[in-house]
Amino acid sequence: MLEHVPRGHLAAAALVSTGLIAALSITDDAKRPSVITQSTNIPGLEIQGIETQATPIAIPPVESIIQEVAAKPEKTVVITPEPVGPQWKEFTVQNGDNLSILFKRAGLNDRAIYELFSDAKEAKDLRHIRPGQKMSFLVEDGRLTGLKYIISELDSLTFERSSKGFSGKQITLKPDVKYAFRQGTIDSSLYMAGKRAGMPSPLTMEMANIFGWDIDFALDIQKGDSFKVMYEEQFLKGKKIGFGKVIAAEFTNGGKTFKAVRYTDKDGHSAYYTPDGRGMHKAFLRTPIEFARISSHFNLARKHPVLHIIRAHKGTDYAAARGTPIRATGNGKVSFAGRKGGYGNTVIIQHGQGIQTLYGHMNAFAKGMRSGARVSQGDVIGYVGSTGLASGPHLHYEFHVNGQVRNPVTVPLPKAIGIDKAELARFNETTRPLIAKLDQFKSNNRLAVAKNNSNDN
Ligand SMILES: [Zn+2]
Repeated sequence: MLEHVPRGHLAAAALVSTGLIAALSITDDAKRPSVITQSTNIPGLEIQGIETQATPIAIPPVESIIQEVAAKPEKTVVITPEPVGPQWKEFTVQNGDNLSILFKRAGLNDRAIYELFSDAKEAKDLRHIRPGQKMSFLVEDGRLTGLKYIISELDSLTFERSSKGFSGKQITLKPDVKYAFRQGTIDSSLYMAGKRAGMPSPLTMEMANIFGWDIDFALDIQKGDSFKVMYEEQFLKGKKIGFGKVIAAEFTNGGKTFKAVRYTDKDGHSAYYTPDGRGMHKAFLRTPIEFARISSHFNLARKHPVLHIIRAHKGTDYAAARGTPIRATGNGKVSFAGRKGGYGNTVIIQHGQGIQTLYGHMNAFAKGMRSGARVSQGDVIGYVGSTGLASGPHLHYEFHVNGQVRNPVTVPLPKAIGIDKAELARFNETTRPLIAKLDQFKSNNRLAVAKNNSNDN
């Protein structure tokens, strides 16, 4: 029954969830670079961290154009990011710096750090300082009265001292968004083709993830395959600062063309769909952990490794290092999060179509895991551990259909989630212009470029 394993890579698929795509986007900080390093199923594509963030994107070849989208300046709070007055002292975080060193450089001692942390809950983010970031101090009479921590081009954190102590405020600037187009033809590898087309590597990967259920990027890719992608580029005060989501894309593999468009439904959940509204991926990931080894199979007559008695093993065990993130395999609602006998720390998710999934022996729960919480496919729900009856760190994963336990490795996974009939009109209205834009680009490159050059859009 192994043919049920989806053709696309689970690892790639795991990245498709909105949360993870956010991790790939430039606005996010590099807290999760491992996600990026792990997700390269594409031959020759090895990406370390989010290097492209700092590297200016090469001017694309003629086939790429940029078109302005009706920029929505949605009640943008106008905040000048660096009103560093005469008394503000700005420092750039250096390699090996910690808060104590930085504060000392500003003429302050650890007392100021202590006050910040005890007064303002936002101060905990100061623990994540990285080289290259900036921190500004306002020191009056030897006392810290203000602090600015520039996290990224878009995010900063400010602290102000009043008579009640420090209060913190997170400021997020909203970038202007334009759509960019890139297209390429594969000669040696997808990675090289993406590079030639002027695409940042994480974007190439994101595109591969979108089509990862239909195309096996490790085995199916052929010379002459081609792609087109329309995605968001982010600008702040006219300066390009990064890229956002893929909006629409097309991939031709061995003469067969696949198309995808991004759509955010009425509940605010974003996903990729075919132009006629079918989901690009399955309702479930096959495994909740990327690249994990199965250490014990589903077996209703197994000798238990701890109890040494015949006891059904109602799930699949995945051996992984303690702390490895565990992902929800499908969208759903948490129906249980807590201690559950031999299962230890456990999360149970109720999905649609009578399906329940269970994740046991967790070392810790992800933030916000409580009964009633909504999760999306690919969201991290907890971390591998050995709580409960476990001989070592592993994930125990169960898949129930209509109250009956099934083998998670072989159970037929439900088909892709399509657009709800009630929402189809809204879907068409939103996505057709986007697909048309992508198609128009295909049918008439030269015109599009000329249009762009004359700056009349
Ligand atoms: Zn188990």
